[in-house]
Amino acid sequence: MTRLVDGRAIAAASAEQAAAAAARLRAARTVPGLAVLLPTGDPGAAWYVRSIERAAARAGVDCQVHRLPEPAGPAEITGRLAELSADPAVHGIICQTPLPPGAALAVVGQAIDVAKDVDGANPASLGRLAAGLPGAFPPATAAAVLEILRHEDVALRGRRAVVVGRSVVVGKPTALLLLAEDATMTICHSRTRDLAAVCREAEVLVAAAGRTGLIGADHVAPGAVVIDVGTNPVPGGVDAAAVTGLAGLLTPVPGGVGPVTTAMLIQHTVQAAGHAAAR
Ligand code: NAP
Repeated sequence: MTRLVDGRAIAAASAEQAAAAAARLRAARTVPGLAVLLPTGDPGAAWYVRSIERAAARAGVDCQVHRLPEPAGPAEITGRLAELSADPAVHGIICQTPLPPGAALAVVGQAIDVAKDVDGANPASLGRLAAGLPGAFPPATAAAVLEILRHEDVALRGRRAVVVGRSVVVGKPTALLLLAEDATMTICHSRTRDLAAVCREAEVLVAAAGRTGLIGADHVAPGAVVIDVGTNPVPGGVDAAAVTGLAGLLTPVPGGVGPVTTAMLIQHTVQAAGHAAAR
């Protein structure tokens, strides 16, 4: 029996907590503020940003979207991120990808104040995470994976976890968060030999490779927890039909990690506003 995770319900529970915390901050005259920088006219990014705006409105977070005139270069992006970092009304900053040619998130992200880096775009945030230091947020997708595991009461201590994908925004931070929960971690990538055999050792398997249907029945041990971070409309990295009946728990696409990721952005922003109010 494979149980499907209801990501929308987990997102709703998180949003309720964020809304309550935001209301307390508002009552104490801090309006949590999120700024989203949209440096291209990419339609997928615009759709995602609208979902962030809706989630922010529901939680009582003030959300401003900053569209840069195209073509925006790294200097314009960095300049605007630095302005937002200096703005006391802004507690959280997202630099929405894709970026224009010539701009890299790991470079422009350095202009985001770590305290406001609610989607872990500044490499300094990843460094703090790796060093086990407080004061930084992991990327929202990585946080969403952990939120789902927490919500589903998946024990991690001492258990074997495998993350497929080693990107700075998804794979690595997810592995670091699992490691911090005392999971025994393996990270796979495009050069991993016998991916299926490595994945079959996992009690918790996170598919973050961006390759449709990469994870099939050969990759999943009976009863394993399988988290698919693939995004809609591109089909997920897990062949859901093939692993249904084999996995113990599975996140669907859509309706799994995606909505929880948006909820984590809002939660991080409210936390950042709380930290700012306490300073
Ligand atoms: P990425 O930067 O393209 O990284 C993909 C990773 O997968 C790389 O580490 C790559 O290995 C590895 N990989 C590629 N093909 C592989 C194969 N055949 N076997 C094993 N590993 C392989 O992608 P990303 O930004 O991390 O995104 C990963 C996925 O997460 C995508 O599906 C994306 O849509 C999704 N995503 C979801 C959310 C959400 O909110 N749900 C947010 C962001 C991203 P190498 O390092 O060796 O190249």
